[in-house]
Amino acid sequence: MTEHTAETFSFKSEGKQLLDLMIHSVYSHKQIFLRELISNASDALDKLRVESLTDLELAPLAEDLHIRLEPDKEQRTLAIHDNGIGMDRDEVINYIGTIAKSGTQEFLKILQEQKGSEVPAELIGQFGVGFYSSFMVADRVELITRKAGSDQAWRWVSDGEGTFTMEETERQEQGTTVILHLTTADEEENLEDYAEPQVLRRIVKRYSDFVAYPIRMKGDEEDEVLNSMKAIWTRPEEEVTEEEYNEFYKHISHDWQDPLQRIRYSAEGTSTFKALLYIPAKAPFDLYIQDVERGVQLYVRRVFIMQDCKDLIPEYLRFLRGVVDSEDLTLNISRELLQKNRQIRMIRKNITRKVLDTLKKMKNQEPDQYRIFWGEFGRVLKEGILHDEKQRETIMEMSLFPSTTEEQTSLQEYIDRMSEGQKTIYFLSGASLETLKASPHLEAFREKGYEVLLLSDQVDDVWSQMVTEFKDYQLQSAAKGAVEFGEEAEDSESGEGREKEKEQQAPAAFLQALGRKLEDHVKEVRISKRLTSSPACLVGEEHDMSPQLEQLMKSMGQEVPPTRRILEVNPGHPVVRRLERLYETNPDDDRLQHYGRLLYGQAVLAEGGTLDNPTEFSRELAEFMTEAIGSDTE
Ligand code: ADP
Ligand code: MG
Repeated sequence: MTEHTAETFSFKSEGKQLLDLMIHSVYSHKQIFLRELISNASDALDKLRVESLTDLELAPLAEDLHIRLEPDKEQRTLAIHDNGIGMDRDEVINYIGTIAKSGTQEFLKILQEQKGSEVPAELIGQFGVGFYSSFMVADRVELITRKAGSDQAWRWVSDGEGTFTMEETERQEQGTTVILHLTTADEEENLEDYAEPQVLRRIVKRYSDFVAYPIRMKGDEEDEVLNSMKAIWTRPEEEVTEEEYNEFYKHISHDWQDPLQRIRYSAEGTSTFKALLYIPAKAPFDLYIQDVERGVQLYVRRVFIMQDCKDLIPEYLRFLRGVVDSEDLTLNISRELLQKNRQIRMIRKNITRKVLDTLKKMKNQEPDQYRIFWGEFGRVLKEGILHDEKQRETIMEMSLFPSTTEEQTSLQEYIDRMSEGQKTIYFLSGASLETLKASPHLEAFREKGYEVLLLSDQVDDVWSQMVTEFKDYQLQSAAKGAVEFGEEAEDSESGEGREKEKEQQAPAAFLQALGRKLEDHVKEVRISKRLTSSPACLVGEEHDMSPQLEQLMKSMGQEVPPTRRILEVNPGHPVVRRLERLYETNPDDDRLQHYGRLLYGQAVLAEGGTLDNPTEFSRELAEFMTEAIGSDTE
């Protein structure tokens, strides 16, 4: 045997913090460490099986794939052994040595806020620190691993106190063994005796029964198999208990929390498949990060094919977790071929319909549940309005939006509340609900009792630009085009309203002059029908890009010509009236330009926008204030 010297490494500082918190947090379900280690072993077996399909050298290794528990009461150890894919040196250091996963920082922040109290289970799992749960039950953890196809093996050891060691070692076959040096059982701390076969039997049955590989336990004479290995989606629906469904979900999703909803589906005919899908209760932190591997697993006739089969579900349903098991595909289907595969397309179509139906039903029958769903995943689902023309109407029907009068409303409910004579669904989009609510664009809408939808998700900017109608109604931005408030109704009134309006009509010459002075910023200056109390606001023309969309495209590195909008002024506002008088007295008064720019600047700020040149705006404002206060105070 060759002599190997151990090298010592430090955990990255975040890793150390995380470990401290994990170990010392009073977390009551310590037994789940076993579920995590079995789940890792099962993943490793899946990987070896899949690779052996294309790598002939690995093929002989993929026989008798199993997990084995080896409890030792005297030594007070528990070993979890698998003959899966294993890890090479770099993989051990990267996956086990550091906890350098995206999101760790945010996770730590949350944990620190919780310090001293119980760490919510779902948090730990979300951040993929499953392996570290070993330290909840062990004061020393050893990991011995050999990558399939390599003859080098590695031994990793840590007491969870900030460092670990690595050294080369020997190992008979490929795979990984995790040896836990168990801390003393302590009922008060919820620590059971994990070297006790009876305890292990119970935990495996409870959390890992469906694992597709045998989980054996070393016996005095012979091994016993602890799990049934039955694919849960092939068992009759009513035979599977709620807990089994939930544990299966946790196994495949790496979530630690029960799901919000479960969807079982089986199709027969041109495409025969079974699906067991789940909607998580909480959006994972990486929902908006591309290329994370979770999603829906593909099986072919009960055999695992791949982890995250993106072609099975549209992007806007990417929050789904679960399994699709097809009867028709071939076992060695490659990722490249999947996309073009007709069966896969059929499955995708069917699943999309089924999931949307389920959500619709939830919306009607369990509105509270649906609200939770919408809060977590509504933003993702709305991407479908843009990308799935066939389901556009359905998704719009299912969408909920805040509005000027409601905390949340569907489009249909909005329509049902419409004022008489209103033919258009109005919305206003912007960066946050707060600025939207305070926007001057809404003044007249409020006054006339017209409800306006407030769209503050980024995806809203995009779809609302492309979709112009819902059912028989036009969709229009309250910050775009001209607005007409129930003309018929007003016409029938005594001519008084009209008269008043005429009176307020500022002469065109003044507006044109102001427009010329501001021509770098705006297309035109005109009288507003939207304003009642603010002096001015900016509006776009019907087909102009909204400022948010412009911003979004720029942030994605796209060239967009700046859109000049229209400055609408409120003829009833004293500022506008006085400006007009200033103009009439002397059309060439310098102050006209000066005040005009301030008027424009405050309109930008009022809608929550950013000024192109804030320094200049501040300077002009200061000058203006000096002037306004006058010299008599000196
Ligand atoms: P997660 O399973 O969510 O990725 P873990 O902390 O449980 O997080 O595991 C981290 C990584 O370590 C795994 O993604 C895998 O790459 C590797 N790993 C853990 N256990 C094993 C094992 N038994 N065999 C091979 N690789 C493993
Ligand atoms: Mg894991």
